[in-house]
Amino acid sequence: MARAKPPKAEPLKLAPVRRAASEAARIEAIFARLAAINPEPRGELEYRNHFTLLVAVVLSAQATDVGVNKATKGLFAIADTPQKMLALGEAALAEKIRTIGLYKTKAKNVIALSAALLRDHGGEVPSRLEDLQALPGVGRKTANVVLNNAFGEATIAVDTHVFRVSNRIPIARGKNPETVERGLMRVVPALYLRHAHHWLILHGRYICKARAPSCAICPIADLCRFDAKTGQGAA
Ligand code: SF4
Repeated sequence: MARAKPPKAEPLKLAPVRRAASEAARIEAIFARLAAINPEPRGELEYRNHFTLLVAVVLSAQATDVGVNKATKGLFAIADTPQKMLALGEAALAEKIRTIGLYKTKAKNVIALSAALLRDHGGEVPSRLEDLQALPGVGRKTANVVLNNAFGEATIAVDTHVFRVSNRIPIARGKNPETVERGLMRVVPALYLRHAHHWLILHGRYICKARAPSCAICPIADLCRFDAKTGQGAA
């Protein structure tokens, strides 16, 4: 009697699961290491209160934090509330921030957002993403920085550094900041979400630089999958 054929074996489907698990472990290890090096990372913009934080972040678009800090030192000494900013006026504000790129547009926006804060929010900086984004000159990135720094929310603001290093290492890939933001929110372990964008900004600014990443001194080099890892920065 012919023997019945054994049932065809189904291919095991473990590989993707294992890969996903090891990928999560790799990302967790990256943040654990960045956290161990700098447990309480801080942004480098200087401010006095929620309003001056908002203004500083608006001014920092396409400008360096160092450059913004130089300009706002004198500005915030005389205008650290929406009322005082309106009293200062657009022309005088523009003069105070003229060393910052796009200063004329930014002066116009800061005056308009000061008026909007007084008109719609009793002079306070709102704590909802939609309300922040409705203010003149405030985009998603700025709103996320304010939510994170002023209100302690676990948001991720994707600036040029976060965008580059997230795609490069990679941690979360995407063609635009919002896709990267959503990817990061999905893969960064909850424990590290609050400070994730600070760690990535600092890592991008000082180690994983745009043109010449300092891979030789990078603390996460063994966890990075960037094909073009270099020895630059070893000196
Ligand atoms: S190894 Fe190089 S490319 Fe990778 S994260 Fe470090 S500095 Fe960036």
